[in-house]
Amino acid sequence: MELCTYKVTIKGTVQGVGFRPFIYALAKRYLFTGTVSNNSHGVEIVLNIDLLTFKQFLIALEYEYPPLASIESIDYVELDYESFDGFSIIETTEAGDVAVNIPADVSICKDCEKELLDPNNRRFNYPFITCTHCGVRYSIIYDLPYDRVNTSMKFFEMCKGCKEEYTNPLDRRYHAQPIGCWDCGPSLELVGQDISKEKIVDEVVELIEEGNILAIKGVGGYHLVCDATNNEAVQKLRERKQRPSKPFAVMVQNLEMAHKLAEINKKEALLLNSKERPIVLLNAKKNDNILSSKIAPNISRLGLFLPYTPLHLLIFQKLNSPLVATSANVTDEPIATNRESIEQLAGVYDYLLDHKRKIVNACDDSVLMVVKNQEIILRRARGYAPVSMELPFKLEKKVLAVGANQKSTVAIGFDKQVILSPHIGDLDGISSVEYFQQNIENLKRIYRFEPEVIAHDKHPNYESTKVAKQEAKEKHLELMEIQHHYAHILGVMVEKKINQKVLGVAFDGTGYGDDGNLWGGEFMLCDYDGYERVAQINYFKLLGGAKAIKEPKRVALSLLFDLYGEEALAFSNATTEAFIKSEFKTQYLIWQKGLNSPLSSSVGRLFDAVASLTGICQVMSFEGESGMLMEEYYDETIIGFYDFTFDESIIGILPMVKQISEESNPAVAISKFFNTLVEIIDTLHKKYDLPLVLSGGVFQNRILLALVLERIPTAMIGNKIPPNDGGIALGQSVARINYRKNND
Ligand code: ZN
Ligand code: ZN
Ligand code: FE
Repeated sequence: MELCTYKVTIKGTVQGVGFRPFIYALAKRYLFTGTVSNNSHGVEIVLNIDLLTFKQFLIALEYEYPPLASIESIDYVELDYESFDGFSIIETTEAGDVAVNIPADVSICKDCEKELLDPNNRRFNYPFITCTHCGVRYSIIYDLPYDRVNTSMKFFEMCKGCKEEYTNPLDRRYHAQPIGCWDCGPSLELVGQDISKEKIVDEVVELIEEGNILAIKGVGGYHLVCDATNNEAVQKLRERKQRPSKPFAVMVQNLEMAHKLAEINKKEALLLNSKERPIVLLNAKKNDNILSSKIAPNISRLGLFLPYTPLHLLIFQKLNSPLVATSANVTDEPIATNRESIEQLAGVYDYLLDHKRKIVNACDDSVLMVVKNQEIILRRARGYAPVSMELPFKLEKKVLAVGANQKSTVAIGFDKQVILSPHIGDLDGISSVEYFQQNIENLKRIYRFEPEVIAHDKHPNYESTKVAKQEAKEKHLELMEIQHHYAHILGVMVEKKINQKVLGVAFDGTGYGDDGNLWGGEFMLCDYDGYERVAQINYFKLLGGAKAIKEPKRVALSLLFDLYGEEALAFSNATTEAFIKSEFKTQYLIWQKGLNSPLSSSVGRLFDAVASLTGICQVMSFEGESGMLMEEYYDETIIGFYDFTFDESIIGILPMVKQISEESNPAVAISKFFNTLVEIIDTLHKKYDLPLVLSGGVFQNRILLALVLERIPTAMIGNKIPPNDGGIALGQSVARINYRKNND
């Protein structure tokens, strides 16, 4: 057969995942000569081969690529004939690597697990065992290209044994940047305790069994852990963390245990067991008799996840009970990633299990759920982030999008792609804002990116808006102001690669509207060039402004005033009884005069109002609590819905509120409330006959989402980006509205 020379270029997540050794192995199999190297587009192969073998090679490439890789494209051209002596891996030469995706952190692989538990292996019980196919990536990267010198493993010098594996193209640890062993890699330290490193895990298990709370350094931050079967330990953690009722995630030793605690379908089991190992929200089994009742009080949903590091596996070799494992952070601050920040929580934990592999980029655990067999991501972080999204068109300018204020993420966009950061958190404290800015700097540095325009939310008081304006002023950049709910819808359009007009349904907490009111129950016709708001929930007043967001009773009272005016003062129901009499009168005056009572069309707040009227929740101890509690009351056998009006563009919900306030059975009121929201959406869907796109934090409610998807199976919701504000930055980055010169 005649030999030819080809150049093959592969794009995608192809660096730091064992791609070059994979090609090397294929060269040995198919007996061709040439070279393979990383370059600014991905991986480049030059090979001398006959056509038939070349075709086989391409098939092998497409079907056998390494587990952590993902291929976006394979292109090849024929070059002038060139012959080679054998096949070789050439070192990375270029510095800039912008088109390459950063690999995410993934769980330990089967091969490493086997070695970890094999007494004859030199890494037996070594808590940091890893290879090319598993372990930390994003969390240890300072810079690209992904080489050891650009990671926090540069502080550990490889021993002779590790070096041999690292330099052998046929070894599973060839160029596995984070490798180490008992002799040369990081090791555990139980702070303040004088225990040899081989015995630490035994001691840790004993401390957990005794009911202690431990802070344990993980992949993207510290966890606070305790025995999930021990009531006192869980209660102690709640008190010390000042977290009275928000559910805790639980790490279980294996799927078998997970099945004992929750109903798990096939898709959920796959997600639990996936290399990303997210927290999956599941239906808890009633009376499992295993977990402490304080894990998720009054809520039948349970967030479970499986061990994902060698250390977790070692702990569960000895420990029989599931573990509460929650991110360690001071209230309103980002997850702790170093000794200094974890020590601020010294009063919360009893013992600290630390190590010296630095966490460069913080990354929380990811959270997912399955609704109608669709994956819905609620927090996109470890295992999934950062992510590159391909756009259905080319961006005119390089854009930095700073997202919203809660569940913040940021994005950078250039050419036909947007890179979305992992979950950053709520921008409430000074250190969260600093952390947010640091995330922007990280993306800029790693991707060698300088924006020409900064996209931000319309809300003038969002910390992200302030940062955007400041940055634009300093660097003379253009600004682009994007309405919150428009950004919500655009995010989904990008993910689904939709390039036509859609009817967007934004059911949300609150977002700043074009008229200065707090929107959140909007129907908008959207494309990338703009939007038209065609319908909204009628405005109601949020008594006390920000206070109303935490106190459902205020929203409910406001709606009662809308219905009955002063007469409502004489009522006695769950809402009115939640106020003291004198306070009650004052509220009426506030309502009447409209003092500190912004107008809102938010469906999130409507949920709150219903929770109050039905007596389920008057004051929330965490965001989203009212909706979660309401899910418990939904009964699918209750059919029918309440009255609402639809005139011009206003959806009047007062008739529904009236009926709910007259209903004494909360299950009936709540079930019919859900059904009414579905009717409202369906009414608009029929009127416009356009693809339906759902977004906004309210769609985190699995009951509502399932009902809408049942009624309108073609409705689209994001699967890769969260329905909450974590998807805003992606949406902001692709809006093609006019750029505004920065004049202030
Ligand atoms: Zn491995
Ligand atoms: Zn070593
Ligand atoms: Fe939102």
